[in-house]
Amino acid sequence: PQPHPQAGAAVKAADRAHVFHSWSAQELIDPLAVAGAEGSYFWDYDGKRYLDFASGLVFTNIGYQHPKVVAAIQEQAGKLATFAPAFAVEARSEAARLIARRTPGDLDKIFFTNGGAEAVENATRMARLHTGRPKVLSAYRSYHGGTAAAINLTGDPRRWPSDSGTAGVVRFWAPFLYRSPFHAETERQECERALQHLADTIEFEGPATIAAIILETIPGTAGIMIPPPGYLEGVRALCDAHGIVFVLDEVMAGFGRTGKWFAADHTGVVPDLLTFAKGVNSGYVPLGGVAISGAIADTFARRPYPGGLTYSGHPLACAAAVATLNVMEEEGVVEQAARIGESVLGPGLHELARRHPSVGEVRGTGVFWALELVRDRETREPLVPYNPQGEANAPMAAFGAAAKAHGLWPFTNMNRTHVVPPCNITEAEAKEGLAALDEALSVADEHTAR
Ligand code: PLP
Repeated sequence: PQPHPQAGAAVKAADRAHVFHSWSAQELIDPLAVAGAEGSYFWDYDGKRYLDFASGLVFTNIGYQHPKVVAAIQEQAGKLATFAPAFAVEARSEAARLIARRTPGDLDKIFFTNGGAEAVENATRMARLHTGRPKVLSAYRSYHGGTAAAINLTGDPRRWPSDSGTAGVVRFWAPFLYRSPFHAETERQECERALQHLADTIEFEGPATIAAIILETIPGTAGIMIPPPGYLEGVRALCDAHGIVFVLDEVMAGFGRTGKWFAADHTGVVPDLLTFAKGVNSGYVPLGGVAISGAIADTFARRPYPGGLTYSGHPLACAAAVATLNVMEEEGVVEQAARIGESVLGPGLHELARRHPSVGEVRGTGVFWALELVRDRETREPLVPYNPQGEANAPMAAFGAAAKAHGLWPFTNMNRTHVVPPCNITEAEAKEGLAALDEALSVADEHTAR
């Protein structure tokens, strides 16, 4: 990339004058001005290149500027750039067909949204109308989106400033052996105790008041905790026993990230509703949606579904999805994610953990990995406290700055760094990223207690 510092300065100045950024104190941020991107890399106006181990916000599953997807968007723009949702439109029909082909079980009807939060809003509304019940159960360590219902369902601290306290949400603990809420010592104990805790919660809330249980199949931003064998099957059984709708949120885990089309495919579990976004078209044009079971679709066969969006199934977004899904199949992108996870990222991250005392645990699958950074491996005291503010976050900030200095754009959340590159990252790129991570972890090591 050629340096254009003056152009970069203009982009930055207009941003600072007029763009109001999400989740941020506006005067305390310093957004990098981005000049371009391709594949697994992006670069700034000084010509500095970064390997994107964050996939944007974990959505560029096929990397940046895939030529076939860019061409499909251009072609659709020339043919029919937009159209209202009540019509049958080629790109929308084809996107729905291709998505339904991949979703598990009988999830064969697709309601399109503009992103993940709207998918969660609509999934929970469908569940409430289908069951006639008011409450939804969600997990503490979770993120489900930034809109009203989705942020209330969210378990992580992003909820606190917007918590309405009355959204019909009940939160419970899902399994996480490394920081077990149940003081368990084995996966099996964790699974049994988590299921008992959920069964107790259902019993004391009153099963007839519960419309849905929503879980990220593998929680994403909250820490990439793969549920122990049998957990999702157990939740499915509890839902079946009590007529509760089971919603799996695959906004982050879906479309190849875990090395399967959906994270649910690692188990035999079929939810009643599945929410998706991000990887469905790698975020080239905003798109999300809900995949709906036959039984829930039937509820709205002769009774109108009371929800909609002006841009539901937008032709540009759907054309991008069609092209993305075809590219993923043609280029074996899902298989590539599985292979890179097994042969490069998994072994490489475990090797880093052996050498760096700041790494407390490595967990993940495919291109969906978390490193739990700790002050002390024995006590598992996190490198920074839960929901760190200001100076308390300094060790993680130092780690992030070191990664960037070595040309790696990391994903960090609280005391964790996630390794979530594009699904089609090459072996050489993955190794380059691991080498940069090695350097950055040495900085994290300086903040450990021993
Ligand atoms: N659900 C999960 C699991 C997510 O990871 C996210 C976003 O990161 C969302 C929902 C919200 O999606 P969006 O930001 O597209 O509204």
